[in-house]
Amino acid sequence: MDSRYSQATAAQYLDRYARRHGEDLALRVYTSRLLGQEPSLVLSGGGNTSVKSRVTELLGDETDVLYVKGSGWDLASIEPEGFPACRLAHLRRCVERASMTDEQMVRELRGHMLDPASPTPSVEALLHAYLPAKYVDHTHADAVLALVDQRSSAALVDEVFGDGALLVPYVMPGFVLARRVAELWAQRVAEGREPTMMVLDKHGLFTWGHTAQESYERMIDAVTRAERHVERRRTTPRASWPSADRSLAATLAPALRGALTRQSGRALIATFRDTPSLRALCHRDDLHDVATRGPITPDHVLRTKRAPLILPRIDDADREAVRATIERALSEYASRYTASFERCKAARHVERTMLDPFPRVVLVPGLGAFAVGRTRREADVVGELYEHTAAVIDDAEAIGTYEPTTELDLFDVEYWSLEQAKLGKPTAELPLSGKVALVTGGAGGIGLATARALLAAGAHVVVTDRDHARVADATKALEVRFPGRALGLGCDARSDAEVAHAMREAALWFGGLDVVVSNAGAAIQGELHEDAGHAALAESLEINLLAHQTVARHAVAVFLTQRTGGALLFNASKSAFNQGPGFGPYAVAKAALLALMRQYAVDLGAHGVRANAVNADRIRTALFGAGVAEARAHARGLHVDQYFRANLLDRETTADDVARAFVYLATAEATTGCVITVDGGNAAAFPR
Ligand SMILES: [Zn+2]
Repeated sequence: MDSRYSQATAAQYLDRYARRHGEDLALRVYTSRLLGQEPSLVLSGGGNTSVKSRVTELLGDETDVLYVKGSGWDLASIEPEGFPACRLAHLRRCVERASMTDEQMVRELRGHMLDPASPTPSVEALLHAYLPAKYVDHTHADAVLALVDQRSSAALVDEVFGDGALLVPYVMPGFVLARRVAELWAQRVAEGREPTMMVLDKHGLFTWGHTAQESYERMIDAVTRAERHVERRRTTPRASWPSADRSLAATLAPALRGALTRQSGRALIATFRDTPSLRALCHRDDLHDVATRGPITPDHVLRTKRAPLILPRIDDADREAVRATIERALSEYASRYTASFERCKAARHVERTMLDPFPRVVLVPGLGAFAVGRTRREADVVGELYEHTAAVIDDAEAIGTYEPTTELDLFDVEYWSLEQAKLGKPTAELPLSGKVALVTGGAGGIGLATARALLAAGAHVVVTDRDHARVADATKALEVRFPGRALGLGCDARSDAEVAHAMREAALWFGGLDVVVSNAGAAIQGELHEDAGHAALAESLEINLLAHQTVARHAVAVFLTQRTGGALLFNASKSAFNQGPGFGPYAVAKAALLALMRQYAVDLGAHGVRANAVNADRIRTALFGAGVAEARAHARGLHVDQYFRANLLDRETTADDVARAFVYLATAEATTGCVITVDGGNAAAFPR
């Protein structure tokens, strides 16, 4: 691993931050980001860094402080505000105590910050304070974990890092670790062997230096040594497997997501990953054995749980059999988790409330992994952690025997009040949190407004449109406001193959589907008694009826696999009730679309699948482009603006009005076979 430290970039950081925050902190921010941006060093908020400095307080006192990473900040993007300043002398006195509870430690840390508005200092703040060096860096580097997650880690650490490294046997992070290090350190100093770096068994490593560059480059040097050792000692080359059958993964996803949702009682996102390290892990003959030993560093237990769910090998194409297999594997997992919780609780003589007993990682032998979360972003964090887990397990097994920390130690971390706090308070659930919706014709008009409204209601949304470029642009804009929750796909709803592909992508990306807004349509005019009108009818039936049927049919296949109900929502039109002159091709198809909706309601109610429609009128969208608005207004003897306001409320109806109706129907658990009218009121078109 090469150092990415550059004097030029360091100078930019000094320019940007030094005047307000001082040079020490400016460079602390720089090298913290260098560490955070390298996933093989730290992942997703892991690791922590600090710098000792001196500040002048408001009343003129000169105070020695420890700037240490605050919780809730990610090293990759940390700002000076992410480093609370704590009174160094007080923190060092804390380490001298024989014991301290976690709650006492947090109170001491928070109570001795210079700015009470700062984030809570890292749980490792006392350890950072204790270490004498100015800059201190802590990571969970993959290569080092491959050495310390070993039965013979002590010998390996000695061999790779030599006598300068202090190996700290595994203890809980926090006060206990700081105390343990203080004892070992004093011993080494008494022997005249002050450590030059520190390796935490089953956990990670610390380096330090007089400057930010020195501490960072010592980290890179240590990790490079570990990487070289692993490369030299590997007895087998890294296995390389071709990408497996993604369509099989797409079939499994809704069955898995459905089982998870039903057993856990909450809608979850499951996303498929088959990166090289995950593929290699899932092809191992000893997958069960190695993957259930524990996470590569204790922190991960909060995101990935102690072990993944490993599905049995699935060759059966029978949907029922696959579902039953997944269902059983999942409930067995939950029983194992519960038993482990009870066992550890009894062994530790503590009272704890059990967290949910369901997996965050699901491995499919020969195929790849599903990562599970309340959101796609949460699932991505899990997936990324597990990708590195797979790589470390592979390296560790190639040079020895993978042996991470014990079940009991992991219980302490998983049920540690301070770690629980890291996960944050559960965010308020929105009506469609954890749900997945798909909108056709989503690049503009009603489709785009509906996609936006569904996202605002908490859903993950697959936005499809036959215009690939427009849907890509539209999704990019949605992604800015709703990160990780919008997926844009080019898809012509008239094409069976393209719709099937969109459903597969929804399954791989989010795990399945709960709501479909079948919106794509075209306002096709013509006189039915003329040849041109006859041709127009055929064209209209294809887009305004059969395309909806194609979308509904594929969506229902997913719904029935998930067995968690589902909502089919159609964009009908007032033309279904009140036809305009010369608009036969459109009106006939839309009337048939209502019949289609009602048929689905009748046929699938027993499966909890609801079918409903929104009957909107005169929404200013692309449908009314190319002279259609003018023609329709003319047919009614009105100007265009009059045409759009010609309703009982004398109010133009917007795409957002329609979108709200779709969101309502997506959540209306007791409503099926219903049409909601959104048109400002039109007595002649009252449904009857
Ligand atoms: Zn750590």
